[in-house]
Amino acid sequence: MRRILAAILLTAALLSGCTTTALPGSPRAQVVDPGTVAGRDVTSGTSGPRPGSRDANLPVTNSDRGIIDKLATNTIADVQTYWSRKAPEVFGRPLPPVRALVSYDSTGPNQLVCNSSTQGFSNAFYCPSQDLIAWDRGELLPRLVEAHGQMAVPVVLAHEYGHAVQNKLDLVKPGSLPLVLEQQADCFAGAFIREVVDGRTEHFVLNTGDGLNGVLTAMFSLKDPVRGDPRSPRAHGNAFDRVSAFQFGFNDGPRRCAQIDNTELNSRVTEIADFTDGTDLPITIDSLNTTLAALNLAFPLGGKPPRVTVTAAECPDAKPTSPAAYCPATNTITLNMPALQRIGAAPQRGRPDSFGDFAAFAELASRYALAVQQQAKLPLDDETTSLRTACIVGAWSAATSKKPPGDRPHIGDIILSPGDLDEAVAEMLSNRSLIASDVNGKPAKAGFARVQAFRIGFLDGFAHCQHGFNS
Ligand SMILES: [Zn+2]
Repeated sequence: MRRILAAILLTAALLSGCTTTALPGSPRAQVVDPGTVAGRDVTSGTSGPRPGSRDANLPVTNSDRGIIDKLATNTIADVQTYWSRKAPEVFGRPLPPVRALVSYDSTGPNQLVCNSSTQGFSNAFYCPSQDLIAWDRGELLPRLVEAHGQMAVPVVLAHEYGHAVQNKLDLVKPGSLPLVLEQQADCFAGAFIREVVDGRTEHFVLNTGDGLNGVLTAMFSLKDPVRGDPRSPRAHGNAFDRVSAFQFGFNDGPRRCAQIDNTELNSRVTEIADFTDGTDLPITIDSLNTTLAALNLAFPLGGKPPRVTVTAAECPDAKPTSPAAYCPATNTITLNMPALQRIGAAPQRGRPDSFGDFAAFAELASRYALAVQQQAKLPLDDETTSLRTACIVGAWSAATSKKPPGDRPHIGDIILSPGDLDEAVAEMLSNRSLIASDVNGKPAKAGFARVQAFRIGFLDGFAHCQHGFNS
């Protein structure tokens, strides 16, 4: 996040009088049912290979028949079964299976697969000219499985199979941005993962609690590097955009995925939006004050903003939460500076509770969002509150974008930098998310629902946070 110039600040101040609530609806408006994921109860239980299932018997060139190749082959079998049913149903045409499957080891001797050298090529890909899907069993897939569990393999290969689907069924118009192909493939992966959650796949099962969370964090880890060029042929989108596309497929199925084109993308995708380059702000009293000023502008609260302090005090009607707490009785936000600075530090291996500067500012915003809800006489201590809070933080995040979605103006004198939204997504997928938690620090059960609620606020505005989360 960064500060913007004084001249822009003046414009924002002029605009701020008419910018807070009652925004018009949009076709994306949707309702999240608290405690559910796409209308299903949040479940626990096994996630990964279906216990007792027999391995698929598909021909794979160069397979070592190890665990990774088994996971990959079982994935392709299930994805193919899914599309043999869905393609005629949704697109009115049968989908012939891909012609060849190739396993390779990027750490082993070099080979040529679809004219690509495999040595050091940590990747998985679809090759249209040979109608072939290949994967690296040496580095990429084992690394993802180690970090995110075995369901990482279905996530990656359902995406690659999605490229086969769009190619065979001619779903992408000529002149489409490369990101259209990638977003559509992510969306198709989401549609397939829904099939797994629904219990219809022969080789995999997935719960909608920590199982689906793991799938989303795997998706997250595949994001483009920060400041990646979205127009590059290799761009796959930032994490916020990738997870969004995945959720569209999961919620609404392949028909929704086919609607992704340049126009739809430009209206939504934040990586294309003109986020001015900026460095992370250190978490100091000064930068927190700037953030508070932006929050005060976004939510006038009848001239009664919450008081903010760094001195801990007893609160009679809420549990203390760290690094920021909201006390309804005194309308006070209490900040724990060292803890907030840890959250706002750059993410690093071995420091799972550091997410980057915007995560810290968004955690502060989440407690401010509780003051907003208190003033609106909404409950502050249930699952609906947790999601509504994420939604309000999402709406505020959009207001700090250089070009907020729709016709909304920019509010405040801070601006999002590339990567900021991904920091919020990472925080929401963690077990201790404060952005998506109620006044007692209890996060909404499913990471999937947390990110979805944040996105509704980001894309559709404050009004939808109120109407989209009525319990
Ligand atoms: Zn791709």
